[in-house]
Amino acid sequence: MIRTLTILLAFFLLSCAPLSETIQHAILPPEEEIRLGKSYIPSAIAENEGLYPDEEVQSYVRELGMKLASLAPRKLPYRFFVVNSSIQNAFALPGGPVFITRGLLLMLENESELVAVLGHELGHTNKRHHARYLEKVLGLSLLLRVTTALIGDGSLSSQLLVQAANIGASLLALKFSRDQEREADAFGVEIVSRAGYDPEGFIGVFEKFKEIQKERPPAWLSTHPLPEERIRNVSREVKKLKRPGMKVDSERFRRVKRKLLETKRSFELYEEGKDLYSRGEKSLALEKFRESLRLFERNQMAHVYIAVILSEMGRNEEALRHATRAVEIDPDLLWGRFVRGAVLFNMGKFEGSIEELEEARRLVPTFPDTYYYMGRSYEALGRYREALISYENAIRLAKGDEVWLQDARRRYEALRRI
Ligand SMILES: [Zn+2]
Repeated sequence: MIRTLTILLAFFLLSCAPLSETIQHAILPPEEEIRLGKSYIPSAIAENEGLYPDEEVQSYVRELGMKLASLAPRKLPYRFFVVNSSIQNAFALPGGPVFITRGLLLMLENESELVAVLGHELGHTNKRHHARYLEKVLGLSLLLRVTTALIGDGSLSSQLLVQAANIGASLLALKFSRDQEREADAFGVEIVSRAGYDPEGFIGVFEKFKEIQKERPPAWLSTHPLPEERIRNVSREVKKLKRPGMKVDSERFRRVKRKLLETKRSFELYEEGKDLYSRGEKSLALEKFRESLRLFERNQMAHVYIAVILSEMGRNEEALRHATRAVEIDPDLLWGRFVRGAVLFNMGKFEGSIEELEEARRLVPTFPDTYYYMGRSYEALGRYREALISYENAIRLAKGDEVWLQDARRRYEALRRI
């Protein structure tokens, strides 16, 4: 179920960019860049399995990030998020949002390494690397149309929805050039030094990335290529800017790290559960997810999976309790909203289902499954026009391997004849 948002449509993106606009592209105005990035925050959070559900951890990274951002030349609505993913990664969206995964945070040894990661991402934002990519590949007029549509709360045409899904996919799978990485490093080293941090933290991060690369070369590292040359460049800058007495660590960092270590096992069990679920071992998966919750009850994604499995087993009352708990813990997470809406549909509570799925749609308007269940609920209530639109959106956004796709097509055709 939850593989979904990862769609790689670089080819499609290239093929749909109007020629005239790729030759000479105009600049996306800052306010549009901000709106665009902001509208994809819930997708980025969903893709990375929710916000780490601990306010102390979030506020620590947020405050640290804001301290750096206050020194950045571009005045933007910067925001910083810690997401649950176990994959070691950090990334930014255009116009201000910056994300670091729980997996990467766990790997870092001190605060100077954390500011290095955040400083590097602020470099991409300040040098407009995302925006420049979008301008070049998509062209300004399409970008503006989609941004305007995403912000207006009305429902998007299915054609614009597909475009919005493509933009989201390319933003979340964006690869920068070697020069852009170098630029982000240089920016980062300078800004952390100005904030009083030991820029040597960059070297610490690079060393760790090198270790991962050796162990199991992950696909994501290609978004931050790590040639020796890059390390040499940064080392040179670090030597220039390093001063005695610069800040390396803090009590707060150590406390946050301890918190993450305490929940580490819960997330490992959660990963094992996901693995079992994907192999069809539902009962074993359920056990893993329950064990994961016993160690950390706020693990919202474990609640989501338990809700899915129980609902598939026909145990909808219990499923609803877990889905509701997931929404309580993380109200802006697509998965909790979507699964709660689907469970309510399974229970025959169509109005409640539509209400919840509306929330899911508001967060991530490009997730096809939401529309399928909306269609089913509308159809059950005899609201055929809305059902028809929902099925159309579901079909247009579908990637082709959805279990409900054939059913959606059949229902769509049947309703069209009414
Ligand atoms: Zn980078």
